[in-house]
Amino acid sequence: QDRETGRLLQAYEWSEKFYHFLLKNTEHGLPALEYLRGRGINDKLIEQFRIGFAPDRWDTLVQFLDKRSFDLAEMEKGGLISARQSGDGYVDRFRSRIIFPIANRSGKTIAFAGRILGEGQPKYLNSPESRLFNKSRVLYNFDQARSAIRKQRQAVLFEGYGDVIAAWEAGVQNGVATMGTSLTEQHAAMIKTTADEVLVCYDGDNAGQNAALKSIPILEQAGLQVKVAMLPPGLDPDDYIRSNGGERFVRQIVEDAASTTKFRLSNLKRGYKLAEESGRLDYAKAALPIIAALHSPTEREVYLRDLSSEVDISFDSLKQDSNLIRQEQSRPAPGQEDPGPAYSGPQQGG
Ligand code: ATP
Ligand code: MN
Ligand code: MN
Ligand code: MN
Repeated sequence: QDRETGRLLQAYEWSEKFYHFLLKNTEHGLPALEYLRGRGINDKLIEQFRIGFAPDRWDTLVQFLDKRSFDLAEMEKGGLISARQSGDGYVDRFRSRIIFPIANRSGKTIAFAGRILGEGQPKYLNSPESRLFNKSRVLYNFDQARSAIRKQRQAVLFEGYGDVIAAWEAGVQNGVATMGTSLTEQHAAMIKTTADEVLVCYDGDNAGQNAALKSIPILEQAGLQVKVAMLPPGLDPDDYIRSNGGERFVRQIVEDAASTTKFRLSNLKRGYKLAEESGRLDYAKAALPIIAALHSPTEREVYLRDLSSEVDISFDSLKQDSNLIRQEQSRPAPGQEDPGPAYSGPQQGG
């Protein structure tokens, strides 16, 4: 670790403590405290997640760092402050925002996420990538979640900081989140060092469901078992916990998580009108390749039975079709690159 990295780490540590102090002990922090309380983030959570507040001033942090003899050009390069748009000098990057420190796996702060108080754009502002911070390699709360992940051999993957924090309070302390970006192979590899299974717990809106569909194969490729939590449409885990309570979240969402197949099928189903005969037939045709691609005959049977009752087609017919599809799936067409939605790993493609 070179000297510039050391200085930057120290600056992030001091800045984190400074923002935390401003939130708790100054009048600047009062509206932010009120906002956090309104979201159910109590003092204990503020401590646990070292939450802070950046006041509505141009140079609060710049002056703090300058007084402590940090090299401001170096701090700008490290993403802590910004160069002034016109003229010389530096200004604070975060103004009038709640500060969520982002730590590396050993718990050292390497970036901040700043949330606006209430409505406004951008809702979240992150530190830029720097010599310390590469967002495709960092998971929020991985440092604090690690021991719970190791104990349970399971990690819970959320979309947002608020979800991780609310889940923590509900007793789910193996939660991590990406930094507002898609899950990467590096994230999956990082989880795999400590867990065997991941519970994907994304928002109940379309964006969340689509993001889950993308994350599943990345996690599976890393050798992780995957389950998917199904949230009511329009709610994220944080919203759910606030309106239904933590216990209910654990019982109805975490413990009742679906297999990836069940999740794929229920997601697919939304696009068909099952009240109509043609809709049921189309859904069956779309669902069969997903079921046919499952390696386990038992699993295929379970899902075919469910499908049979949903679409009102006999189990035997569905099973025959499924077997035909399996034969086709095991015979890759020459030149055909896309193995279809049922593709479940490199062992099939050749
Ligand atoms: P909150 O509960 O504070 O309103 P959220 O976490 O539910 O926020 P979502 O809109 O669900 O926010 O987005 C999920 C995640 O995506 C956020 O936690 C954040 O990491 C990231 N994100 C959302 N909006 C932005 C944005 N405008 N700029 C950067 N990142 C964003
Ligand atoms: Mn503290
Ligand atoms: Mn959300
Ligand atoms: Mn939210």
